[in-house]
Amino acid sequence: MRAALLVLLAAVASAHAADTRPLVPLYDAAALTTACDEGLAAAQSRIKAMEATRGAGAIFDEWNRLSMRIEDLQGPVYLLSSVHPDKAVRDAAEPCLQRLNTLGTDLFQNEKLYARVKAATPRTAHQAKLKKDLIEGFEDTGAVLPPQKRARAKQIFERLETLRQAFERNIRDDPTTVTFTAAEMDGLSAAYLEAHQADAQGNYVLRLDYPSYVPFMENARSGAARERYYRAKLSEGGKENLALLEEIFGLRKELAGLYGLPSYAQYSLRRKMVRTPQTVEKFLGDVKAAVTEVEKRELEELRAAKAEDLATPLAETKLTRWDVAYYQEKLRRERYAVDQEKLRAYFPTDKAIAYTLQVSQTLYGVVFREAQVPVWHPDVRYYDVLDARTGRFVSGFYLDLYPREGKYNHAAAFPVYGVSRLAGRTPLSALVANLDRKGLNQEELTVVMHEFGHVLHQVLSRVDYNPQAGSNVKVDFAEAPSQMYEEWTRREQPLALFAKVCPGCPHLTHHDIQRLDAARRYGQGTLYARQWLFATFDMALATDPRPPLALWKQLESATPLGHVEGTMFPASFAHIASGYAAGYYGYMWSQVLALDMLTPFEKNMLDPRVGKRYLDTILSQGAQQEESAMVRRFLGREPSSEAFFAEITGRR
Ligand SMILES: [Zn+2]
Repeated sequence: MRAALLVLLAAVASAHAADTRPLVPLYDAAALTTACDEGLAAAQSRIKAMEATRGAGAIFDEWNRLSMRIEDLQGPVYLLSSVHPDKAVRDAAEPCLQRLNTLGTDLFQNEKLYARVKAATPRTAHQAKLKKDLIEGFEDTGAVLPPQKRARAKQIFERLETLRQAFERNIRDDPTTVTFTAAEMDGLSAAYLEAHQADAQGNYVLRLDYPSYVPFMENARSGAARERYYRAKLSEGGKENLALLEEIFGLRKELAGLYGLPSYAQYSLRRKMVRTPQTVEKFLGDVKAAVTEVEKRELEELRAAKAEDLATPLAETKLTRWDVAYYQEKLRRERYAVDQEKLRAYFPTDKAIAYTLQVSQTLYGVVFREAQVPVWHPDVRYYDVLDARTGRFVSGFYLDLYPREGKYNHAAAFPVYGVSRLAGRTPLSALVANLDRKGLNQEELTVVMHEFGHVLHQVLSRVDYNPQAGSNVKVDFAEAPSQMYEEWTRREQPLALFAKVCPGCPHLTHHDIQRLDAARRYGQGTLYARQWLFATFDMALATDPRPPLALWKQLESATPLGHVEGTMFPASFAHIASGYAAGYYGYMWSQVLALDMLTPFEKNMLDPRVGKRYLDTILSQGAQQEESAMVRRFLGREPSSEAFFAEITGRR
C-alpha cells in the first residue's frame, strides 16, 4: 500500500516536472524568424511600458521580467546558432542575434530607464548589486555619452556583433579536410582507424575536429603527416578572419576613445576583478618568470627524445611545433607508462558522463534523471535536475557531445535560461562538446568535468534576479568553478566512484593515478608558456591594435619554437573575437582562485557538507555578490596564488 502510494506520488512529481519543464523550442528557419519578430515586439512593448513609469517604482522587478523575456528568445537562438544541424536554422539565427544585440544596446542607452535605475533605492544587498551592475551597463553602453558619441557607440556595438558572427561562422563552416595515406596513419590506434574509415582509394580524409586532430598529433609517426595536419589546423578560419579580428580590435579601441580612455584594455578591465591593465601585466609577468625555464627544460627533453627516435645527432635535431604533442606522448608512455589512447577503455564515454553526474550528485544534494524530450539532433540527451531530499524539480540540462558538420567546434556550456527565484523561473543549460564516441582519455574526461562545472554553476544557481543568474559573473572569475572541478578527474578518492558507475571497466589503481599525475605535471611549463602567449597577444591587441598576424608572428617568433611561416593561429582565436577580449588572462586568473578553493575539499573530495557550503557561498550565488567577497567567505581568508604557481611549474 505504502509502496503503491510512493509510486503514485512519484508519477505525480514527474508529470509535474514534465508539464512545467522549460525546454529549447525546436524552430525551423521560418518559425525561428517568427519567434524572433514576436519576442522582440514583446520586449519592445515592455520597454515602452517601463519608460512610461515615472520615478524608480518597481524598476528592479520590471527589469527582471524584461530580462527573462529577452532571454526566452536569446538563450535558445544563441544555442541553435551554434548547434542546429540545419544550416538554414543557423543562418536564420544570426540576424535575430543581431537584432537582439541592437535591442540590448538601445536598452542600455535608454535615458529614461537609466534615470529610473539611478533613482531607485535598493532594499536588499542583491538589489544594491543589481543596481550597480545596471548602472555600469548603462555607462559602458553609452547612456552617459553625448548624443553623437552615443550614436557612434551604437554603430560600433552593431558592427562588433556582425563581425563576431562572421568570425565564428568561418570557423564552424570551415570545410578544410586533410588527406593521409594508409602509411601515414601509422601509430594511430585500431579504434581511431575504425572511427575514420578509409575512402575507396585507401586514403583517410580527416576534418579539423578535435577527436580527429588531437590523437593524430599525439600518435602519428610520420612527421610530414603531422606537419600537414598542423598547418591546416593552424589556418582554421582563414585569412578573412584575420581582417575581421583587426577591424574588431580597431573598433574596440575607438569605443574606449569615446569615453576618453586610452585603450580597450582600460575600458574592459575596470569592470573585471583585476580592475587595471597593470594588474594583468604584473600577473602575466609572474607567470612568464615562473614557466620560462621549465618550458626550456621540457622542450630540450623532447628534442633529445626526437634525436633518439630518429637516430639523428642531437646537435642537428630540431624540434618543431608538430613534434611537441607527439614526443610528449612518447615520453609520457616511456617514462610514466601512461598511454592516453589506452585510457579510453577505462573511461567509456557513457560511463564518463555517468561518473560526472555521480560526483555532482554526491556533492550537491541533487539527482539527475534522464527524460525523453524533443531534441535538435538524435545524439542529444536531456536530464532533469531534482532536489535529492524533496524530489522537487530544480532545473534541466542537455548534453550534445559528438562532432558533426557545422557544429560549434570546441567544448562549452551554453546557458539557455537563467534562474530567478523571485519569478519562480528555473534554469536550463546545454553542454556542447566534440568527444570520441567510444571512450575518453584523461584529458577529455577533464574537459567534460570542466564544462559540467559551468553547467552546475548555471543549473544550481539560486539568485533573485535573472541578470545575475548562473555564470553571468565577471569573465576573470567565470572559469573558477569549472577549473576547480577538473581536479575530480585526477584524485584517487573521487575516481574510486568510477567502479560504481562501471563495474566492468578496468580500474585505475593507486599506482596508476600517481603515474597519471606525474605524467600530467610533466609538460606544464610548455602548456602555460602557451597560455601566457595567448593572454599576452590578447592584451597587446586590446592595448594597441595592429594587424593581428604581424603581431602574432612577432610574439611567437620570440618563443623557443618560433613561428611556423604560413600558419595563422589568430584566425581561429574565437575567444578574443567575442567575450574574452582583454580577458583571456582570465583563464589563469580564475585558476588561481580555483586551485585555492580546492583547499576545503582536500581532506574529502566527496564531502557533501563542504559541497553544500561551496554551493551556498559560491556556486548558487551567481553575480548577486562581489566575486572577491564570495571567495573570501568560502575560504575564510584572503586567497593565495601559491597552489597556482606550484601547478604551472609542475610542482603540484
Ligand atoms: Zn570553461
